[in-house]
Amino acid sequence: MTVQGAPIESVETVCYRFPTEQPEEDGTFRWQATTVVAVTLTAGGRTGLGWTYSAAAAAGLIDELLAGAVRGRNAFDVAAGWSAMHRAVRNIGNRGLAMQAISALDIAWWDLKAQLLDVRLVDLFGRCRDAVPVYGSGGFTNLSDEQLATQVAGWSAAGCRAMKIKIGEHWGTDPDRDLRRVRRLRELAGPDVQLMVDANGGYSIGQARRIGQLLDEYGVIWFEEPVSSDDLAGLAELRTQLRCDVAAGEYVSDGYEAARLLPAVDCLQLDLTRCGGYTGWLRAADLALAQNREVSGHCAPSLHAAVAAAVPHLRHVEWFADHARLEPLLVDGCPPVADGALQLADGSGRGDRPGTGERPGHGMTLRPDAERWRTG
Ligand SMILES: [Mg+2]
Repeated sequence: MTVQGAPIESVETVCYRFPTEQPEEDGTFRWQATTVVAVTLTAGGRTGLGWTYSAAAAAGLIDELLAGAVRGRNAFDVAAGWSAMHRAVRNIGNRGLAMQAISALDIAWWDLKAQLLDVRLVDLFGRCRDAVPVYGSGGFTNLSDEQLATQVAGWSAAGCRAMKIKIGEHWGTDPDRDLRRVRRLRELAGPDVQLMVDANGGYSIGQARRIGQLLDEYGVIWFEEPVSSDDLAGLAELRTQLRCDVAAGEYVSDGYEAARLLPAVDCLQLDLTRCGGYTGWLRAADLALAQNREVSGHCAPSLHAAVAAAVPHLRHVEWFADHARLEPLLVDGCPPVADGALQLADGSGRGDRPGTGERPGHGMTLRPDAERWRTG
């Protein structure tokens, strides 16, 4: 079989703003909407789709600085394109917002390449597993007891064997309520579910140690960002003092940041909408493998499916309530969650299983009725 690439003809951005059903809150932040910046690339009669959870400014950055580095390049040469994009943002800083913009483009680029090859992305990357384990995630600090119960019931019904709630309420100023909510989670989830918590950097180091010792007694197995993920010494210290795993990494932009964080965590979290798309995620995941650490996909469950299936040392992907709600409103073809896992295409090519990504690429296309949330 001879296959040829095709030049990328167009780069287009669309912004959406999805209001939350009510304000959502964690230990250190409160939000009322989630902004999606989507990118489409066209080549050879196919359209690739990518997106990032970011700010509308990422779309401006793509239009101004990145589109020119992408147009005209061979749609097969994602690696060269990634480097060109990285070079194009040198002077404004190539992390944070710029890397979120590059992430959306990289995702769209791989989707486009897979479509030109008429192959599913999960098969292009190659798979280690046919289903990707997820954990239920949400448990915002401002949920009522009844709302938390409803959320946990949904995760149980989907077969989740691990569940995570937010703690560190109001920058760690209400630890008694934090611990009450963890005990409540155990009651709701039952004895066999792995309990996880995320403080979003809300505690001081001493607080995190004291809370962590109690979490150990409660059987919590995952303590995410007990202190700021910029406090590498603090994370490393807690890792040696607590029985539970210490996890962080959701703000990692590139391999340099992943390499710095790795010695301080038991599991490296990576968000492909922030760390350079599929390309950046796989590169950072390799760094974790070389340090004998597991990786976990942060948020964006539908996008993580293809790469999470491709690495041997995956722990799980975060089935984040906000994104689990939003992604089916944004796109058709989200991989369904059943038996506690994202179910991938079975490779039969029958194409008769809606939502399992049997079409080439990542299998997702923008829903026309998502226009109602479009802002730009
Ligand atoms: Mg987190």
